Amino acid sequence: MDNLAKLREAVSVANKALPEQGLVTMHSGNASGYDPAEDLLYIKPSGMDYDQITPDNLVPVRVSTGEVLVEGVRPSVDLPHHLFIYRNIEGVRGVIHTHSNYATAFAAVGHAVPLVLTAIADEFGAEIPCAPYVDNEDSHIGEAILKYRNRAPSILMGNHGVFAWGDSPRSALKAAVMTEDVAKTVWLAMQIGTPKVIPAEEAEKWYDRYHNRYGQG
Ligand SMILES: [Zn+2]
Repeated sequence: MDNLAKLREAVSVANKALPEQGLVTMHSGNASGYDPAEDLLYIKPSGMDYDQITPDNLVPVRVSTGEVLVEGVRPSVDLPHHLFIYRNIEGVRGVIHTHSNYATAFAAVGHAVPLVLTAIADEFGAEIPCAPYVDNEDSHIGEAILKYRNRAPSILMGNHGVFAWGDSPRSALKAAVMTEDVAKTVWLAMQIGTPKVIPAEEAEKWYDRYHNRYGQG
């Protein structure tokens, strides 16, 4: 498989994983992947059922110009936000947007997911920030992501949902799944008490271990 075929396959898998992981209902989320060498991204077609998605019906888009490279099929309406992230955050190769329930509950009240779990320190290295509400005209969402993001690979958009990213569609999916998972745990914790923030220097140890020493190298 050439690189673009691999990318199409990865974007198809990431989109199909959204309902499988419980992150979307109906059509409320989308995944894309980007190959900078080809100046190309692939993204979910607008309004298509996830079980209908294949590597061959994803929508190719020229990233430098935003030009849709096939006729007769429209890309996800969230394409402008995906393009903005690829053009403005170094190293991003996969982007996912969802309205996953627990994370979006935090977004509804304008709260970050606080750094109160070692899992949050591991994966995100910071609280998961929440940007204030913006509409979806022009680059308002993209600009808010740039302004309010920290080093975590996801952000809550106030009153809206989640954007997550990574160095591949798979790592963007992981960030989206972990965002929802930790938001659920923190929400549960808030029912029985006040979650305790992990001190920054302790969080740094977990982040460093996870990013530099964990896994198979
Ligand atoms: Zn949305």
